[in-house]
Amino acid sequence: MFNALVVEKNEETGKTSAAVQQISEDALPDGEVTVAVEYSTVNYKDGLCIGPGGGLVRKYPHVPGIDFSGTVETSSDDRYQPGDKVVLTGWRVGEAHWGGYSQKARVKADWLVPLPDGIDARQAMAVGTAGFTAMLAVMALEDHGIKDGPVLVTGAAGGVGSVATAILAGLGHEVAAVTGRPETGDYLRGLGATQIVARDEINETVKRPLEAETWGGCVDAVGSAMLARLLGQMKYGASVAAVGLAGGADLPGTVIPFLLRGVNLLGIDSVMQPYDNRLRAWKRIASDLPMDKLEAMVQPATLSELPGLGRDILKGQVKGRVVVDVN
Ligand code: NDP
Repeated sequence: MFNALVVEKNEETGKTSAAVQQISEDALPDGEVTVAVEYSTVNYKDGLCIGPGGGLVRKYPHVPGIDFSGTVETSSDDRYQPGDKVVLTGWRVGEAHWGGYSQKARVKADWLVPLPDGIDARQAMAVGTAGFTAMLAVMALEDHGIKDGPVLVTGAAGGVGSVATAILAGLGHEVAAVTGRPETGDYLRGLGATQIVARDEINETVKRPLEAETWGGCVDAVGSAMLARLLGQMKYGASVAAVGLAGGADLPGTVIPFLLRGVNLLGIDSVMQPYDNRLRAWKRIASDLPMDKLEAMVQPATLSELPGLGRDILKGQVKGRVVVDVN
C-alpha cells in the first residue's frame, strides 16, 4: 500500500472531493514502467483536476498530477531499467490516466524521458510542465530568430513566466516582465528581469493595430487582449510564442502586425510534443536554466496541501513553482 491523492465524485450531487488515501499497486493503471515517484508539482490543469475536473478527467476515482519525477522500479520495456531516473510531463497523464500525486505511478515507456545529467528529480519538478513549456517557447523563438531589444514575458510571476524570465536572462537577453502583481517586482528582478511592465499598461483592447516597435520577442502566457495588443508592439520580423490563456482564450486583434511587420505567432504545445524535441528541451534546461534562479522560485509542498494549492492556482495566486514531495 502507498499514499496517493485520490479525487472521488459523488454521483448524486456531481461534486468531487480530494483526499490522501492508501491505495494498492493492483489499483494502478496498465503500463510498461512502474515508477517510485519522488516529486510532482502544481499546474493550472492540476487545479482543475484536483477540483471539478474542467472536462479533463474521464473516470473517477482519479489520481491527478500531470508531472512527476522519480526512479524506475520495474520495467518490461528495454529502454528503462530499475534505478533509472526519469521525468514525465504531458501525454494527458494526470487527466485521462492516473498521474503523479502518488508514491507510485504506472505509465507507458513512450511517455517517459530519462533525466539528463546535471538535473535531479527535485529540480525536474521545479521545472515541470511550466518550465518545460517555457523552454519550448524559448527554443521556438530562437529557431525563428530573436531580434534586438527586450524580450517580453507575460504572466511573468506565474510558473511559465518565471522560468521563461530566468532562461532568457541567463542567455543574455534583456527581459521585460509583465505582471499584475507589483509586489513581485523584486522577485522578477531577482530572476533577471530588467524592466517590469504593469499588466494594466498592456492589457487594454487594441486601439491602433500598430504601435511603436518595442519587443524583440515574446513568451505569452496570457492570450486574449494582451496578446492582441502586444502583437502590434513587436519589432519587424519578431516572434511571439503563444503558450497560455491565463487572461482568456480569445484573440481580439487584427492581422495587420503579420502583414505589415512580418510578425510570427508561434504555437507552443507541451502535451503531445515528440520525444526528440522533449529530450532536446530537457538538455537545454539542464544547460541553460540557472539552477540558483530555479531554487528561488520554489515553494515546497506535501500531498495533503494539494487541495488548497489547486484552488490557489485557479485564482492566479501561486507565485513561481510548487514542488510536491510525495513521500
Ligand atoms: P500560473 O497560474 O502559474 O501563471 C499564470 C500567470 O498569468 C499568473 O501568475 C499571472 O501572472 C497571469 N495572469 C493570471 N490571470 C491573468 C489575467 N486575467 N490577465 C492577465 N494575466 C493574468 O500558470 P502557468 O504559468 O503554469 O501557466 C500559464 C498559462 O500557460 C496557463 O494558461 C496554462 O494553462 C498554460 N500552459 C500551457 C501549456 C502548453 O502546453 N501550451 C503548458 C503549461 C501551461 P502575474 O501575476 O505576473 O500577472
